[in-house]
Amino acid sequence: MARGAQTLFCAANGGAGAREQMPSQQTPETHEPRTAIVTGAGSGIGAAIAERLARDGYQVAIADIHGDSAGRTAARIISAGRPEAASLPDQRGQSGPADERAFAVSVDVSQEESVRAMIATVLERTGRIDALVNNAGIAGQSAATWELPPGEWERVLAIDLSGVYYGCRAVLPHMLERGSGRIVNVASIAGKEGNPNAVPYSAAKAGVIGLTKAVAKEVATRGVLVNCVTPAVIETPILQQVSDEHVRYMVSRIPMGRTGRPEEVAALVSWLCSEDCSFSTGAVFDCSGGRATY
Ligand code: NAD
Repeated sequence: MARGAQTLFCAANGGAGAREQMPSQQTPETHEPRTAIVTGAGSGIGAAIAERLARDGYQVAIADIHGDSAGRTAARIISAGRPEAASLPDQRGQSGPADERAFAVSVDVSQEESVRAMIATVLERTGRIDALVNNAGIAGQSAATWELPPGEWERVLAIDLSGVYYGCRAVLPHMLERGSGRIVNVASIAGKEGNPNAVPYSAAKAGVIGLTKAVAKEVATRGVLVNCVTPAVIETPILQQVSDEHVRYMVSRIPMGRTGRPEEVAALVSWLCSEDCSFSTGAVFDCSGGRATY
């Protein structure tokens, strides 16, 4: 499993075609590659985080409810780490070190048993989990509170809030046993400010912020750091779930006057997963083009 500096082609968003020398994220004592799980990594922000962590040298478990999109993210990472595969299509199926850079795992984060199975599957395959990024989420319907069916409230809370709790609950015993780990929860600026016509989403994301602060204090002296990020509107497929009017409202609140890019969130998460993040826990990191005022 030992792996030194990697020669690789950057993944799609990291500078197509450019060959770079990337250092592996390795534990100093064993030189084994670190493992990260990113939920909801079949699309959008999660896919960008997975690609970024792979470029940082992590072995990445691409976890998503849609196995086909998770497989596509994993395939992109593998071919980026093994550039010869692009010119030798008959070798694409071969296993090798590059294929260990990423693999897909099926999970429904709203189901505790499914999340536990995801953690067990990754541990069986890699023997370690250094970072868990609880990113999977949905926007839910755009509607006023009194028009929203209670079932929609429950659906959004189950994925966006309970899913984060299940992830923390399942991975923490392993991280505490090792005395090391990073958890990054993807919340939203909606959780700080509240977006109209997005009550379940805003409430779930506020819950993720509170959960992050509370869990972080439970493990603060045990080598496990727990933080969250609060992006404003980021250009991903999730925006197809909400009305154009709602997107315009969100962009109008951003001083930089534009949507964010998934890679901009991924860069922040990359740091939060790293050893360089060593004195920040239970903290809320904005990626909002200046929207957040606290
Ligand atoms: P996206 O729709 O592009 O990706 C979400 C991914 O989560 C998809 O691959 C989807 O299949 C997966 N997913 C959905 N339900 C799942 C479940 N039950 N179990 C496992 N996987 C599931 O959306 P995105 O914009 O990349 O959002 C990622 C995260 O970022 C979400 O938590 C979202 O709330 C948050 N966020 C997004 C924005 C934005 O403007 N895009 C802003 C702030 C926060």
